[in-house]
Amino acid sequence: MQVTLPDGKSYDQPTKLFINNEWVDGHGGSIESVNPATEQVICSVEAADESDVDKAVQAARNCYENVWRKVTGAERAQLMRKLADLVEKNKDLLTSIEAADSGKPKYGNCDGDVDELIYVLRYYSGLAEKAGNGVTISTSNEKFAYTIHEPYGVCGQIIPWNYPIAMAAWKLGPCLAAGNVLVMKLSEYTPLSMLVICNLVKEAGFPPGVVNVVNGYGAKAGNRLAEHPDVDKIAFTGSTATGRSVMKAATGNMKAVTMELGGKSPLLIFDDCDLAKAIEWAHIGIMYNMGQVCSATSRILVQEGIADKFVEGFIKQCNEASILGCPLDQKTSHGPQVNKIQYEKVLGYIEKGKAEGAKCILGGEAAPQNGKGYFIKPTAFTNVNKDMTIWKEEIFGPVVVIDTFKTEEEAIAKANDTPYGLAAALFTENIRRAHRVVKELRAGQVWVNSDNDSDPRVPFGGVKQSGIGRELGEYGLSIYTQAKAVHINLD
Ligand code: NAD
Repeated sequence: MQVTLPDGKSYDQPTKLFINNEWVDGHGGSIESVNPATEQVICSVEAADESDVDKAVQAARNCYENVWRKVTGAERAQLMRKLADLVEKNKDLLTSIEAADSGKPKYGNCDGDVDELIYVLRYYSGLAEKAGNGVTISTSNEKFAYTIHEPYGVCGQIIPWNYPIAMAAWKLGPCLAAGNVLVMKLSEYTPLSMLVICNLVKEAGFPPGVVNVVNGYGAKAGNRLAEHPDVDKIAFTGSTATGRSVMKAATGNMKAVTMELGGKSPLLIFDDCDLAKAIEWAHIGIMYNMGQVCSATSRILVQEGIADKFVEGFIKQCNEASILGCPLDQKTSHGPQVNKIQYEKVLGYIEKGKAEGAKCILGGEAAPQNGKGYFIKPTAFTNVNKDMTIWKEEIFGPVVVIDTFKTEEEAIAKANDTPYGLAAALFTENIRRAHRVVKELRAGQVWVNSDNDSDPRVPFGGVKQSGIGRELGEYGLSIYTQAKAVHINLD
């Protein structure tokens, strides 16, 4: 359907399910896309029910068995590069759609997501020809063995709404490079941008059935994909609670499972750090993407002697660098929360923090723009303790808790006191301390003197209840292949 975005761009928005390179009807009701900055409906798209997911899996299976298995790594690489080029050509439109649909600022945020997709496709296209490579193993004089890395076959992929394009990228790139086909379920909160990218998949020349993308609700379409007996692997990104249910659903046919889940990541600031840099990164670490980042450093721990100076600088930085406004404006760096549900959830946490006795030192309230939108001011609490809800739970909004510590041991103990283990960051100029603390932190990634850096060449994932497996880099390719051992007897 023809859609006109708030920046005046008019385009043809696909609204159906992308199966076998065709747009087909969905039978699971409809999903309304609402611009969270204006609260206006952009359009409705069709949702998949269980039977639609079955159809998508069938299309993927047919394609895998009859076509894709025979396509070489070199040919896969070429298709992926073509898709990257087409995404690059359509970058401006894609960033406008994403900004309107999700509320993420177009500049410095949505453009980063589209760049991520382009880079991830190109990076993994370089690995497509190497994905099958194994090793030769000497066993005895008469025998040896070798391994081949084979694709799983049909992969189910379920993604969240906070990075609709980038999260899809992390799954598409390695999955295709390794020689799998896929059925991806998008988040019902951000249904638009990936559907437009599906048209580019077809234009790039991917055979029908390699990439199948559906919108749909978690309990129906997501659950069916997770439990489907003909899906060989499920890759999930979302909350820990949903991850648990996806894992259970996947047990029927013992699917391989990878999980990218939630977090409550700590940022440790030692008194020997470059404080100005620490303040700058601490702001990015929690306020980027309006705090809707799985690895956001939402718990800041500052050494006692510099705590007052840090707090003063952090408030100033938030006031100067978080510029609220229309996501399509060049100067906006802080848009609305993705929708009304999340907005109310985050405001609820803020109220809970106040009620439980924490001191709100920044923000702490909604900030509609011209009377509209799900905007929330950057918010910070001090006087917190480990029993408070806002200290323990993932808020997934622009809300940070700030606590202090006296010693390195205390900092590490507080940092690790969480069921999550996605990420951690620390600031110190002492190289010995940096490496010592890195070893002690229970997290899938640790940033030293930076915060929330991500690079497609570097693995990303969590420990404890933050995940299973790693995406990105060569590790990210390995989770989409399995080794076959071949024993040769020359006797
Ligand atoms: P969510 O768990 O509510 O939903 C994620 C996806 O799962 C959506 O597509 C949803 O429709 C689907 N889903 C819901 N119920 C399902 C079910 N029963 N079976 C199958 N699928 C189901 O998460 P969200 O609110 O979309 O995203 C926010 C969460 O994602 C946060 O916890 C965040 O930390 C996490 N996240 C993690 C990473 C990471 O890499 N570790 C990255 C981004 C987001």
